Amino acid sequence: MKRSGENYQVDRIQELETKGRAVLHDALGLTGSEISINELPAGVSVPFMHAHKRNEEVYIVLKGSGRFHIDGDEFEVSEGDVIRIDPSAERCIIASADSSLRFICVQTEANSLVQFTAEDGVLLESKPSWFA
Ligand code: ZN
Repeated sequence: MKRSGENYQVDRIQELETKGRAVLHDALGLTGSEISINELPAGVSVPFMHAHKRNEEVYIVLKGSGRFHIDGDEFEVSEGDVIRIDPSAERCIIASADSSLRFICVQTEANSLVQFTAEDGVLLESKPSWFA
């Protein structure tokens, strides 16, 4: 369901996905991160090695299995694995020969997080319709 309000945007991965990749920064107007949902078909690699200038990345493996290369280390990943990578690390990913690899990648500026969860959240008196 696509919709938006003054302070929010909703979109659908299926509608944003092009060639196995949905990028949320533009679609949702993200201001503090870039988030992509990706699916590499079985045996397919990201076709380049890359690093970043300022952003650390977190990869969240949702489904399937594959292999990461990070600064010369190579290791298997599968559903449930979460991987954080420093900006300067050299990285590449390949899906297993017999399995696609579906993952979310979150990019945020390294060392930019100053508060989160309870420190940043504010409890309010207002209530949604389902609070009786
Ligand atoms: Zn990257």
